[in-house]
Amino acid sequence: MSERVFNFSAGPSVLPKPVLEKAQRDLLNYNASGMSVMEMSHRSPVFQEIFDSAKSGLKEALSVPDTHEILFLQGGATLQFASVPMNLMKSGCADYAVTGNFSDKAAKEAEKYGTVHIAASTGPEFRAIPAQKDLSLSPDAEYLYYCANNTVFGTEWQYVPETSSPLVCDMSSNILSKPVDVSRYGLIFAGAQKNMAPAGLTVVIIDKALAGRELAITPKIMSYKVNIDNDSMLNTPPCWCIYMLSLTLEWLKSIGGVKAMQEIKHERAAKVYDFLDNSSMFTPHADKTSRSEMNITFRTGSSELDAQFVKEAAARGLINLKGHKVAGGMRASLYNAMPMEGVDALISFMKEFELSHV
Ligand SMILES: *Cc1c(COP(=O)(O)O)cnc(C)c1O
Repeated sequence: MSERVFNFSAGPSVLPKPVLEKAQRDLLNYNASGMSVMEMSHRSPVFQEIFDSAKSGLKEALSVPDTHEILFLQGGATLQFASVPMNLMKSGCADYAVTGNFSDKAAKEAEKYGTVHIAASTGPEFRAIPAQKDLSLSPDAEYLYYCANNTVFGTEWQYVPETSSPLVCDMSSNILSKPVDVSRYGLIFAGAQKNMAPAGLTVVIIDKALAGRELAITPKIMSYKVNIDNDSMLNTPPCWCIYMLSLTLEWLKSIGGVKAMQEIKHERAAKVYDFLDNSSMFTPHADKTSRSEMNITFRTGSSELDAQFVKEAAARGLINLKGHKVAGGMRASLYNAMPMEGVDALISFMKEFELSHV
């Protein structure tokens, strides 16, 4: 390929072109420091400025209240599957809504540290998000855990669940795609590689009142309290990813922030679902009321035709449309950085493919 493709990967995924261009300009000599961000001490004033800009940028983008702290950690979203129960479960019980691959994994990890109560499960096909009235919540739960957007199966919560215990949410694949009332959450976490930055950074937003409850066996590096006390610098943080996040946040602000992004996200997804709903070849996987606007899953009904679609699309520069191995079919991930031209190109290819295979 001599040109950039339209990359529909579920993660790591497309980054905004202006962000990559800025990083390229700064690559060898950041802001007259004479070195690359990759070469700087994380304790230097020049890096501290980058760190502060990423943190204040995120605080502003999501209107994070002062009751909450932002942490920049490592280990991916997957490490949070263990950190959350180790820090918050107190060997007691927690409610888990299992609506897909990653919440299932999180629930299984939490079983090592206490009692997991399944508040709802929509498996094995995971086409739907449970309604509030279908959540079975235990009175003694330390928290309710859910995953806001199911990257693999393509469903997304359209509401914030009501609970009396703190809410814990995996927002890896839809963070920064819409406004969020952070004050309703005890803890939000997200791997950076979907909507924020390159892989290697995990963002945690935690209500400070929940820090300091960890089990005694919790590794120091996994303690939220220790990370808060050290402002995410107990050890070397993922410096480059934090820098890239600061650039993504500047870009997001320049296009109007999460409010503007929500409209774009809605327009992108509506175009694709509208096509799918009127197609005689393709069927969307998710129930209509539970559809994700970030990861759109669909299939033809024939695995040979699915494979052919993925292959022919790739030859046109529309890449990574193959579904996750546990879901099959196709998946188009329309993250924040996906340009509208990518969506339009996908739809015109789908039309063409459908016409040539009737
Ligand atoms: C990608 C993803 C994960 C896993 O993230 P890692 O950073 O690879 O551990 C977890 N949850 C959701 C919702 C995801 O999209």
